[in-house]
Order: sequence, then C-alpha cells, then structure tokens
Amino acid sequence: MYGTGEIKKTGMGFGAKIGIVAALLVVVAAALFVKNNRAEIKAEAASPVAAATPDAKQPPAQAETPKAALPRLVDLGAGKCIPCKMMAPILEELKMEYTGKMEVVFIDVWENPDAGMKYGINIIPTQIFYDAAGKELFRHEGFFAKEDILAKWKELGVEFGASEKQAFSRLEPAQPDTRPVEAICYMCDGDVNPKTRVMLKTNKGDVCLCSPHCYFITYTSLTDKVEIASSHERTQVTDWATGQPMAAVNAHFLLGQDERHRPTVKAFADKAAAEKEMHSAGGNLSDWKALEEKELANRCAFCDRANYPEDAARVKVESLSAWGCCPMCALGVAARLQKDITVEQRDALTGEIVRLTTINDSVAALEPKTVVAWAGQKKYPGGKMVSTGCFKQAFFVNEDNLRKWVELHPTATGKQITIGQALAEKMKLTPEQISMACKIGECAPR
Ligand SMILES: [Zn+2]
Ligand SMILES: [Zn+2]
Repeated sequence: MYGTGEIKKTGMGFGAKIGIVAALLVVVAAALFVKNNRAEIKAEAASPVAAATPDAKQPPAQAETPKAALPRLVDLGAGKCIPCKMMAPILEELKMEYTGKMEVVFIDVWENPDAGMKYGINIIPTQIFYDAAGKELFRHEGFFAKEDILAKWKELGVEFGASEKQAFSRLEPAQPDTRPVEAICYMCDGDVNPKTRVMLKTNKGDVCLCSPHCYFITYTSLTDKVEIASSHERTQVTDWATGQPMAAVNAHFLLGQDERHRPTVKAFADKAAAEKEMHSAGGNLSDWKALEEKELANRCAFCDRANYPEDAARVKVESLSAWGCCPMCALGVAARLQKDITVEQRDALTGEIVRLTTINDSVAALEPKTVVAWAGQKKYPGGKMVSTGCFKQAFFVNEDNLRKWVELHPTATGKQITIGQALAEKMKLTPEQISMACKIGECAPR
C-alpha cells in the first residue's frame, strides 16, 4: 500500500469545523503564517473555505493568453484546505492524461493571494473553465470530481476525445500466485525459507514471516498495546541447525551477510551450533535483546516501521537525514512533518538514483525529469482499489523501466502514476490517517 490507509472521504461531510472566515484578512494572515510556521495552518475546514472577496464591481479576470491555444482549467485553492487537497490528484491526472489537449493550472491563493484576487473568487477551491481563446465558460465552487469536470467540458461543447495517454496499469495479475500460504511472508510477500521461518501467534491465527527482520517490521506495525507487549513472547523462530520451531526470546542469533551483502539472521537453539556456523560462515553472535535493538534502530519517518537503510529511501528534511521504508512513505514524510523534503530512491529495476525535491507540497525538482511511480494496488471485492503495501511500491527513471519491471513481476498489480500524484495522495492525508499509515489492519491482512 502506499504506506497509507484508505482515504476516508467523510471530510466533505463534516459540518463541525466550517472555516468560513473574513476573507482578505485570512488570506493575508495565512500567507504570513505559512512563512512562520507551516505546520500550524492545517486547514480545519472540511467545506470550501472563504477566499479573497474583491470589490464586487471588479470583473473576474480573463485568463492570461494561453501559450498554446488550448482549453484551460484553472483551479484556485490552497495546499492546506481539505477539498483542495482532494482536488490535487485529480488535477495531476488531468494534466497527464490530457497533455496537449487541455491546460491545467493550479494556483495556491494562500501562498499567492494576488493571483486569487485577480480571478475574483469567493471560496476555495474554485475551478474556472476557459475556452482556447481565453474566454471564461464556467466556474464551479468546491470539490469537483474528475468525471464531473470532464462531463462539464463536454456540456460546454469542448470535446477532448479519449484521453491522449491512459496511464499504464495492470489490475489483474498476469499469473496467479499459486504458492501455499505457509510459503509466503505475511509482511514482504517474499518466499519463506523454511530454515528462517518466523511464526507470530495471534488470536486470529498464526502469521508466517520469512525472517526475524520481517517480524520486527510487523512488530512496528502493531497498534494494540496489549498485543505489542506480548508480541515477542508469542513469536517462534526456526532453529537453523534442526529446522525445529523455538521461542524467539530464548534463541541465539548469528548476524551475517548474504552474497549480495544483505543482512542475514540465523537462529539457533544451541549456542555451540551457532558458534560452529559462525566459524564457517562468519558473522556475529547476538541474543534476542541485541537483535531487537539493531532491528529497531532505523525507522521510517512516515510510518515508523523498522527498516534496513540499504532498502530504504533516503529523505532529507532541512539538515536532517531520515528514512522512508518505501518511496511512497518517503513522500509521506513531507505530509507528516509539513516540511519540504528531498528524496533519493533507487530505480527498482536498475538501481539508478532518482532524486526529487518538494516545495510547498508540490514536486519542485525531479531528476531525471522522466521519473514515474508504480502504485502497487489491488482491487477489493466491490471494486475499491487498495494499496498492496510498502514492499509493492516503486520508482523508476522512466516508464520503460516500469513496464519491464511489471513484466518481470507477473503477480504485481497496480498503476503508473506521476510523482506529483503520489505526493498529492500523501498530502491529503489527515494527521489521524498518517498516524495509522502502514499499520496492521490498514494494510490488508491475507
Ligand atoms: Zn518477509
Ligand atoms: Zn514507511
């Protein structure tokens, strides 16, 4: 999953915190506030927010002459108002799918109050439709769904035909996953080596994990205090020497590396057997306590899951360095901390470095420019798309690499999205949703 939970759309219905406020004052105050403390201005408003109300006699501004003669959709909103955030991924999709057919412009009227004034809007978000000659055809106030926007264009007599560029997606696996449940890691979906299997006993049944590492990721995804407190005691590891299950807390561990320099953890019931393996395979001995300390040392700055730095996206926030356990989580750090970030992540196919910077909740720089994201998702009964978890999210330097990677992963399902869409999905999360991101129960258990 995107490291996130589902987006509850109840926000629109909340009457409780209607933020209709004296317009101009708020715009100016908000602009100042933005500079001083961006985190403070979480818009409370679940309904459209009052915007600048210029002199009623002032006519709405004509759009500036478009560069190319294209129909133009201007959305006036703010990064922090909830319906505006819900508009962001829609605008990104329209931008991508109708390149060369429709110009899509977003203006943040809190960051840029003059622009808001010029259009003479009353609330945010407001969408204004212009024809190719720059004549205003229609304006809509509040959240406007993608289908409704496209239907409105049609009604206004502007036809785009089928979208130029349908984003690549695969919603049904090319091959079914035929592995038996006990051969699949609950956390990473990887194959379970019977010599490193971990079993977490829960009252809903046993959860099978591929390694102590995936156990600690699961552990950091739990939310129930009672479950967390007893989790280690309920966990069995496999004795590398005999293949027998044993209590994790009593085991001896040999920490090493595989041929690809990835950390490995082998468990032993017998210390002498662990030492013997160490002499032939190398590594360091550890008990459960020291293993736990090492495994929990690096945490995702978005979802708080344990991760290995070699697997994680690097996130820079001001002068600090943090980790995102997957590329989507890395983007989520901007939402959780309400700060601009720089993300470095490897192309999932080639390992090439992809780098991006956000400014004011938008993607400001992308290296290379062709970077795309794969949102691992699957269809639930009823048709709703849900994320398939942190291990199924990826960035690529270009669409070609993404398509090759999808070919190589016949069970992968999801869709190609822009980095802007991926960021927008994160920025619209509420603090409550962020606190539950990637937690067990939000990530669909199998
Ligand atoms: Zn695993
Ligand atoms: Zn994460």
